[in-house]
Amino acid sequence: MTESSSGPAAEQWDAAVAAVRALGGDAEIQLICHVSPDGDALGSMLGFGLGLRRLGYSRVRATFPGDFRVPDPYAEMPGLELLVPEADSFPEPALVLVFDVASESRLGGLAALVEAAPVSVVVDHHASNTGFGTIRLVDPHAAATSVLAEQLITRLGVPLDAEIAECFYVALATDTGSFKFDMTTVAVHELAARLIATGLRPGDISRRIFDTKPFGAMKLAGEVLGRAVLDPAAAGGLGLVWTYATLADLARHAQPPYVLDTLIDPVRSVAEADVTVLVKEIADGQWAVSLRSKGAVDVSRLAISQGGGGHRLAAGFTGHGAAGDVVDTVRRLLDDYLT
Ligand code: 5GP
Ligand code: MN
Repeated sequence: MTESSSGPAAEQWDAAVAAVRALGGDAEIQLICHVSPDGDALGSMLGFGLGLRRLGYSRVRATFPGDFRVPDPYAEMPGLELLVPEADSFPEPALVLVFDVASESRLGGLAALVEAAPVSVVVDHHASNTGFGTIRLVDPHAAATSVLAEQLITRLGVPLDAEIAECFYVALATDTGSFKFDMTTVAVHELAARLIATGLRPGDISRRIFDTKPFGAMKLAGEVLGRAVLDPAAAGGLGLVWTYATLADLARHAQPPYVLDTLIDPVRSVAEADVTVLVKEIADGQWAVSLRSKGAVDVSRLAISQGGGGHRLAAGFTGHGAAGDVVDTVRRLLDDYLT
């Protein structure tokens, strides 16, 4: 099987459609997305889940591993009624579909469920995808996992309605940075047009998911941005800008971790640096490291070398030690990468 620029192979699409069609209406179908879900993970999964309901499948559950909290920006997403905590997943589903998950490590305790399932369909767009799952709809050239989820739902004969479309639109808008990133192709805009044509109000959705935050989150952002460090000599002179946020910072402003998810965007706008690093404490001495490049560095290679993954210009891994140690590691990885 090849996963070329033309997307997943025809036999993989056919196998995925056949796997769904082989099920009776009361078959248990488990949908899973990655830990700390973002708009693409939730939107792809829930939009697809709603599509399955439209096809008459009555037993569809959706979940993600770890802290069972839906970030406020997605609290009005259609399909949330399909969500159950990890512990309430079907123990032996007839079919598992996995959305936006680059590696089994992002599945936490649900990896075993995927492993044990008779059929597992992996729907994803990460170049670093590790190759798990029995049926693979993986296209690194897709702007969002929702691009693939929408194709699968269409191949199953489900017409787009406003609820399914809102899920996929949130996913697409999230992963293209509001239709800004390189992968924002003609096809992406054509998909957006089809989604909006169901009656969506893009202004309302954007305000809700991108432009609304609690006062405490804004103050927290001010502190984290205020302590950013610019290192113009790093990465062989390409420049590095970095900052960090601790659990104590979150506690001081009474904010949940997800408010840090998009904080790398203002940091990466710094003109003097190609590479941006945001180090977020997730437990004592353990950090979620977000990496971004403007183009000169394939940060997914750095992340993969540390057991993480992602895309060429946006990737991440889990780091250990003090925040400064983690940044030193990244600096060293950059030196190795460039020599
Ligand atoms: P973010 O920095 O926004 O959390 O993630 C950027 C990209 O890197 C996303 O595509 C995300 O899936 C991927 N990524 C972030 N952290 C990890 C990680 O620890 N492991 C893997 N495999 N991918 C990650
Ligand atoms: Mn994605």
